[in-house]
Amino acid sequence: MKIKSVFDVSEIKSELESAGINPNFAYPIWKYVIRNPNCVWDEIPSLPSPAYSLLHSKFKPLTSSLHSLFHSTDGATSKLLIKLQSGALVEAVIMRYDTRLGKYRGNPRLGGLRSTLCISSQVGCKMGCKFCATGTMGFKNHLTSGEILEQLVHASRLSDIRNVVFMGMGEPLNNYSAVVDAVRVMTRPPFQLSPKRITISTVGVVHAISKLHNDLPGINLAVSLHAPVQDIRCQIMPAARAFPLEKLMDALRAFQKNSQQKIFIEYIMLDGVNDEEQHARQLGELLKTFEVVVNLIPFNPIGSSSQFRTSSEEKVSSFQRILRETYNIRTTIRKQMGQDISGACGQLVVNQPDSNKPPRSVELITDIEDLHL
Ligand code: SF4
Repeated sequence: MKIKSVFDVSEIKSELESAGINPNFAYPIWKYVIRNPNCVWDEIPSLPSPAYSLLHSKFKPLTSSLHSLFHSTDGATSKLLIKLQSGALVEAVIMRYDTRLGKYRGNPRLGGLRSTLCISSQVGCKMGCKFCATGTMGFKNHLTSGEILEQLVHASRLSDIRNVVFMGMGEPLNNYSAVVDAVRVMTRPPFQLSPKRITISTVGVVHAISKLHNDLPGINLAVSLHAPVQDIRCQIMPAARAFPLEKLMDALRAFQKNSQQKIFIEYIMLDGVNDEEQHARQLGELLKTFEVVVNLIPFNPIGSSSQFRTSSEEKVSSFQRILRETYNIRTTIRKQMGQDISGACGQLVVNQPDSNKPPRSVELITDIEDLHL
């Protein structure tokens, strides 16, 4: 029998309820497991006695385990390879920031070290984006809400996680109900992350974007746009055929109207494909009536067979300049982080870093929270 994750919110609550136990006992159970992931159920104090036999028969504190852990050379990035009950592996990446570095609105920053966790929502992905390592795996499975939350439990043992971004393996909006359940748990005790510090990234699953704000108010939306016109989108992201650009922009307009929130636009820079001046102007025209932050992402090569090359620094800077100066669009350039452990964007695929290769050094990323102000 498949043992359930205690973090699978609908399972634990309905099992407690069916056993005549108040479902809110899920909260002290989670709190105890987060602190003591290797616990046995009898150690948890003050549960109603039928709860112990229920937990013993149907649940495990954690159904996944930390299979391997890789740290980048500067310690800023750690990749967790997590083994699910099925034996499948998924990846999560911790990115650490020192908030004392740099300034915010001209003043020194408050705070200290904090971390963002990039989380996976599926094993593999069926969207097949051509620049993405995960896309090459194909789709294997949806994660349950418990398996999504367990990534946070494993990561929290290594770092104080303040932000969560669904930018790991998988298209989160294709696993909608599990992602919604997981985010709801994350924003309540004992995790208690602020919705403002959780970002869901999508290639643009239009019907799901339309209901996201109602289901998860306050959550940030990031859209992997990657091209300003439908033709190029379809060329590099085959799934875009199902989500015409015009319909996607309508859904984003409605999301913004309802949520009154900025939308984060992810744009991977591919040499000669989507990085020319005309593309910057088309993107500016497309976005000029929106409140957005555009994040330009220099392409991370995913092996010598890749059909794409990274855009030059000059092209990336001039693309940024056009968006900023002509269209007054806030535009950042994502710095590379974690490349030596395949933990950078578009590199999440279950392959272990090549131990024969000396790791490349990584730079500290621009703080992702800067995007959330
Ligand atoms: S970029 Fe995201 S949506 Fe596209 S294949 Fe990779 S994981 Fe899937």
